Amino acid sequence: MNRVAYSTRLQRRRLGLQAGFFILFVLAPVLDIFRIDLNLNHLIFFGHDWTLGLDGFLAGRTGAAGVALNLLLRGFIPLAVVIGGGVWLSWKYGRLYCGWLCPHFSVVELLNRWMRRASAKQSLWDRRTIPPHDPDGAVVRTDPRYWPLVVVLAIFFAGLWAVTLLTYLLPPSEIYRNLWQGALTRNQQIFLIVATLVFSMEFLFARHLFCRFGCAVGLFQSLAWMANRRAMVIGFDRRRAQSCSSCASACEHVCPMRLKPRTIKRAMFACTQCGRCAAACTHVQAGNPAGTLLQWVQGAAALEQTGRDFGLHPAPPAYRTTDAPPQGRPRSAANEGR
Ligand code: SF4
Ligand code: SF4
Repeated sequence: MNRVAYSTRLQRRRLGLQAGFFILFVLAPVLDIFRIDLNLNHLIFFGHDWTLGLDGFLAGRTGAAGVALNLLLRGFIPLAVVIGGGVWLSWKYGRLYCGWLCPHFSVVELLNRWMRRASAKQSLWDRRTIPPHDPDGAVVRTDPRYWPLVVVLAIFFAGLWAVTLLTYLLPPSEIYRNLWQGALTRNQQIFLIVATLVFSMEFLFARHLFCRFGCAVGLFQSLAWMANRRAMVIGFDRRRAQSCSSCASACEHVCPMRLKPRTIKRAMFACTQCGRCAAACTHVQAGNPAGTLLQWVQGAAALEQTGRDFGLHPAPPAYRTTDAPPQGRPRSAANEGR
């Protein structure tokens, strides 16, 4: 199988994962996989009540030692595992969660796609329009008649997000029944109307800004990633930069975060590791025996990308995609996913 097919397959897998996680995000409270029940004042986790045992202590049924053990086993240790695991993953691989799972980023990419059809731009704030030819040769014609669809999609997903968030806080059966029967309480109505309005505005006008600066999960992943100079990053083969002369910056046009993938790591602080830039370049350079100029690098090969952050200009390494000199095919995260 050639490089083009491989890159397409990797992107298909990513879309499949995003779709699966979005469905899980909506259904997790319904199936009692995970939710916080404000009526009961505790978590529900895989159908079980997840309490810290404080009620038993206050009622005199549990001693101090029992409460301390409960806090440790049901509070600190699970939190430390989740946060520590997330920080470690981000430190090593960057914002993989954002690009491959996050239900917000799925909506960002979906709206980008339809906004591009309506206006030849992925964001209202883009200065340049995107050429109609995609890197894989597909032609995307701009038609302003898509604008109503963009608005409807933004409102639909804003409403879905609002309802889903409410089911994470109150029993899903109650929320969906009240919705179906038109019997929502006043507070539930206020929550849904305000949340739908806010999400609609955010999806239409500020979805990239939210991912860059507004989301704590994204921000902490980026900070952990920046702390590791050897972390996996999209690397640009500057030795072959001349090959870009015949390309209309395809990698920049496809980036859902509106970044410039050929720049230094610091300028890609919000990169979500979606790999779309590398896939685009793989298509553009399909006829080039040396292949794509953009691919994931890590370890020693990532140091050049990071070193440039501080105004240094280290010589490009003879090999870019592995810690050891190449023997046969170069190894990279992109290749491994093929
Ligand atoms: S720079 Fe590349 S990997 Fe990062 S968000 Fe943009 S397209 Fe995705
Ligand atoms: S890196 Fe690849 S996709 Fe980007 S401008 Fe150069 S040739 Fe085009």
